[in-house]
Amino acid sequence: MIEVKQAAKSYGKLNVLRDISLKIETGEFVGIIGPNGSGKSTLLNLISGIEEPDQGEISLAGQPITSFSRKSLSQRLAVLQQDGLPSISYPVREVIEMGRFPFQDWRGREKGSNADDLLNQIMNRLELQELAGRPLSVLSGGQRQRVALGKVMAQQPEVLLLDEPTTYLDIRYQMQFMDLIASWQREEGLTVVAVMHDLNLASLYCDRLLILSAGKVIAEGTPDEILVPETIEAVFDVKSHTV
Ligand code: ATP
Ligand code: MG
Repeated sequence: MIEVKQAAKSYGKLNVLRDISLKIETGEFVGIIGPNGSGKSTLLNLISGIEEPDQGEISLAGQPITSFSRKSLSQRLAVLQQDGLPSISYPVREVIEMGRFPFQDWRGREKGSNADDLLNQIMNRLELQELAGRPLSVLSGGQRQRVALGKVMAQQPEVLLLDEPTTYLDIRYQMQFMDLIASWQREEGLTVVAVMHDLNLASLYCDRLLILSAGKVIAEGTPDEILVPETIEAVFDVKSHTV
């Protein structure tokens, strides 16, 4: 459902991505791993249409990403950025409600929907009811990350792009966060592309892993195939006993 064909991206003289081709099937959970600066976030930005490749093409359901309007793309694809939500003072519930923007008319109304039920369900599942009225700006990093997840859940996308989503979360919420996404994938056929640094979480949750190194996909396969000491040692330049 997502296809990247021979994509390349440079910033000035820096060739961040070179000749990237990949396919991600509907309902797949694909992890992207690789060292800092290898181009992972840039690749996600190309898939989400935030940035355009210098060469090559990105498509969603067979249509070039550039052919979608912002609004129609936001009805199908949601992104959780590496730096999370901006520190705005809106109350938590309103921030989550912002996930419904792509489905609202200019008056902020949505036709024939049960948006309130949906928001309540999300608030409950993410244990955010107690924080509903608090401004986002006063929350801790982990609480804010749960709100960010709530906002993309409210968007009900077919494709979810995650950039290191568990960075700010303690162990309990890391598992809860990944479990929620995995059950969403199982129950609704959500397609997930997640940049991950935690190799344990990557092996637990991903169907397939891609390793990016210096702007190229240098290996892909199941976590069992990819997460072997030789590969990790070579890609991350570490001795295997440290991982
Ligand atoms: P990390 O693990 O640290 O998040 P990453 O793999 O996500 O790294 P990217 O953010 O994709 O890496 O960046 C890849 C390279 O491109 C880096 O050297 C970065 O400095 C550079 N880069 C990214 N965005 C820009 C930009 N807008 N302008 C200039 N250089 C950029
Ligand atoms: Mg990054």
